[in-house]
Amino acid sequence: MTYKQNLHTHTVYCDGKDKPEDMILKAIELGFDAIGFSGHSPTNYSNLTILDRTEEYKREIYSLKEKYSEKIEVYCGLEIDMYSHVSQAGYEYLIGSMHYLKMNDRYVGFDCSADVVQKVIDEYFNSNGLLFAKEYYNQLALLPKYGNFDIVGHFDIITKNIEKAFLFDTESKEYQKYALETLEYLTDKIGIFEVNTGAIARGYRTTPYPQRFILEKMKEFGGKIIITSDCHDKNLLDCNYNQTIEYVKSCGFSEVQIIRKGKFAGVKL
Ligand SMILES: [Zn+2]
Ligand SMILES: [Zn+2]
Repeated sequence: MTYKQNLHTHTVYCDGKDKPEDMILKAIELGFDAIGFSGHSPTNYSNLTILDRTEEYKREIYSLKEKYSEKIEVYCGLEIDMYSHVSQAGYEYLIGSMHYLKMNDRYVGFDCSADVVQKVIDEYFNSNGLLFAKEYYNQLALLPKYGNFDIVGHFDIITKNIEKAFLFDTESKEYQKYALETLEYLTDKIGIFEVNTGAIARGYRTTPYPQRFILEKMKEFGGKIIITSDCHDKNLLDCNYNQTIEYVKSCGFSEVQIIRKGKFAGVKL
């Protein structure tokens, strides 16, 4: 099969390059049957360009949904940074993600280059990368408390720099234990995870999130997957999708979720 959807996309409303309508036109050109917008939720602790015009964003997406309803299903979603306290009303689906750790009353960003993450590890975790990983998965397990999420965003985003730098050993028993405990819990509470090619699109990695051992266990735990490219540029709407389908198959998945008429459903790979 070819996967013809993307529910993790960013536009000029936050840190994406393109206007929503241009992304829809590109999706139609690619033969997609659905596209969902997932602007970053506004936060008061981020220095990223973050969606701060939510009402206007919703109005525009819903009006485009009408305009293109004959050609493609358009969905209005939000990628909620776990600690951003925002209204979750008025969206058709929600992605729950972490880009910041809460350390006492500070929010510490880690969706960054390897040297910035190393500084976080040095400053907050006594230069012990495994303690950083443990803290990340402990906090990520709180996700269901912060919203009624449909999808867990980039589950092991802390491995973004895995091919460029050694921050902690992802092969170690400790690391895998921290990841798998949270994985099992979130499989039960939320159920759908994205297989996200965004780090490939941005030149950090050659493989999608999550790592193989996570996907294999996810399958065992009964988790479901969607494929996304965490798209910030319309030319990368289906970045590495074919390779990703082969990857998830090799991890044991025979089915992938798609959205149709507002509901998630499994289709055979
Ligand atoms: Zn994200
Ligand atoms: Zn994103």
